[in-house]
Amino acid sequence: MSQDRVIVIGAGAGGLAAAAELAAAGREVIVLESAATVGGKMHQVRSGEHWIDAGPTVFTMRWVFEELFENCGEQFASRLPFHPITTLARHWWTTGGSLDLHADPQVTAADIAAFSGSADAEGYLRLCRDSGKVFDLLKNTFMAAPRPNPLSLAARIGLRKLTELRRLRPHQSLWDALGDYVLDPRMRQLFGRYATYIGSSPLETPATLMLITHAEQQGVWVLPGGMTSLARAMQHLSESHGAVFRLNTTVAEINADGGRVSGVTLQSGEQLKADAVVFNGDRSALATGQLGLEVTNASTATTNTQRGLSAVTWCLRADSAGFPLSYHNVFFDQNYPQEFTSLFNEQRVPERPTVYVCAQDRLMLGQPEGPERLLVLVNAPANGDVVDWTLEDMAQVTAQAEAVLADCGLKLSLNSATRRTANPADFAHRFPGSGGSLYGQATHGLLSSFARPGAKTRLPGLYLAGGTVHPGPGVPMATLSGRLAAQAVLAENAESRSIKRPLFQPAPKSS
Ligand SMILES: Cc1cc2nc3c(=O)[nH]c(=O)nc-3n(C[C@H](O)[C@H](O)[C@H](O)COP(=O)(O)OP(=O)(O)OC[C@H]3O[C@@H](n4cnc5c(N)ncnc54)[C@H](O)[C@@H]3O)c2cc1C
Repeated sequence: MSQDRVIVIGAGAGGLAAAAELAAAGREVIVLESAATVGGKMHQVRSGEHWIDAGPTVFTMRWVFEELFENCGEQFASRLPFHPITTLARHWWTTGGSLDLHADPQVTAADIAAFSGSADAEGYLRLCRDSGKVFDLLKNTFMAAPRPNPLSLAARIGLRKLTELRRLRPHQSLWDALGDYVLDPRMRQLFGRYATYIGSSPLETPATLMLITHAEQQGVWVLPGGMTSLARAMQHLSESHGAVFRLNTTVAEINADGGRVSGVTLQSGEQLKADAVVFNGDRSALATGQLGLEVTNASTATTNTQRGLSAVTWCLRADSAGFPLSYHNVFFDQNYPQEFTSLFNEQRVPERPTVYVCAQDRLMLGQPEGPERLLVLVNAPANGDVVDWTLEDMAQVTAQAEAVLADCGLKLSLNSATRRTANPADFAHRFPGSGGSLYGQATHGLLSSFARPGAKTRLPGLYLAGGTVHPGPGVPMATLSGRLAAQAVLAENAESRSIKRPLFQPAPKSS
């Protein structure tokens, strides 16, 4: 069966990457997106006269985007100017103290030595080295490669390097492993928070996820037009190869005929034929029947207890006082393990939540005079399909977040008249099947990284892309998943067609 026309459902990072690759490989591509704009979770909201990034605010793993654009015949850097940030994040604690994490590890180590002692500074540099090793071992064998199982991953890595990986104790939790690098509980908290970047608890996520430390060390970049400009650039990349985008268009059903995908039915009743369909929504939407009965067995759903984190967010313009914010700011209370007991076991926002504040005017304008654009976020359980999230709930979480900020010494009211908020119920509504989880299945337990399905489903012609499938969530990883989905579509009839060039370089041979 040829794959001439491919329908991509959803214009998140994964859908956009799949569309660009498939269009560049000569397929007729139609992208159908429910929302009025492309980007999915890369999203801006309007607060009064101002647009504020309400999803991711930076990107890492620049090579992912460079390779995507290059494979589609363009230069990423010339399409989209971006700037590195030198202060990765500024951290405060209610118990006192503040620490900046810098792009330069040696500068960070000097600050850590002054903050919590030379042993922790040395431990931090060791963490940087080890996380670099994990990253290098898993880059071409796991992240940028089709989903492996534990055995095929071992074969890809090779015996000698596998021994090296084992020395880095992948069987331990990130939290336990961090105890071998740093002594100060605040340092453990700071680096343990990386687990939340993939919607998980540091107490349960495997130590291999320390590789996020290295991803940040390789560079963190901002875009002057915000992260939605990345989504628009990926849209333009696809369009330059002939892809057609239909926004405000919801797919009600994926159709099958003779045991193979045949097209889609829109909410309007319109039917579109297709030789292949790439689904970029939450994969659980398929198994729970939200895309019709013909695809319920195509993939598996994430159970409610397996879901990764959701969030409560506030987008507003406000004045703050107490001390200068950086671009990224994190405010911690004392009992970090309790935060994850509340979120995962008790399904509630902790009384003393960690608060993230992105001060979006700080990079370009320095210290703004007057109100500035802020995204404030606390993690929340992904229960948006079973809990209403009433105004009272929101008032309570707002007060809890403000209290942690105040105890760290920052005066900031989250109650501006033009603020825009989102909670797990809002996210559940925007991303059907997710229950509000922003990251799909939590990465909990040694084998959890293998639990996400790959691009191919059980229904021939139906493929998956996005943060809920391999290799996982986050903008770069979802982009990789879209490239892998395109690769799977193209591979299906590679024998009858000549593929212009492989999407990825083959994994290096293990030694
Ligand atoms: C507040 C917040 C902060 C974040 N911070 C970061 C960060 O700092 N760094 C980072 O890397 N990641 C971050 N993330 C996560 C990151 O944004 C996501 O992992 C990534 O963007 C997901 O991309 P995706 O390909 O899964 O598509 P999604 O963004 O999930 O988009 C899927 C699209 O499919 C559409 N769709 C679904 N069903 C249908 C249908 N039936 N018909 C038509 N369209 C449909 C949806 O409307 C949506 O636009 C954050 C997310 C949020 C919300």
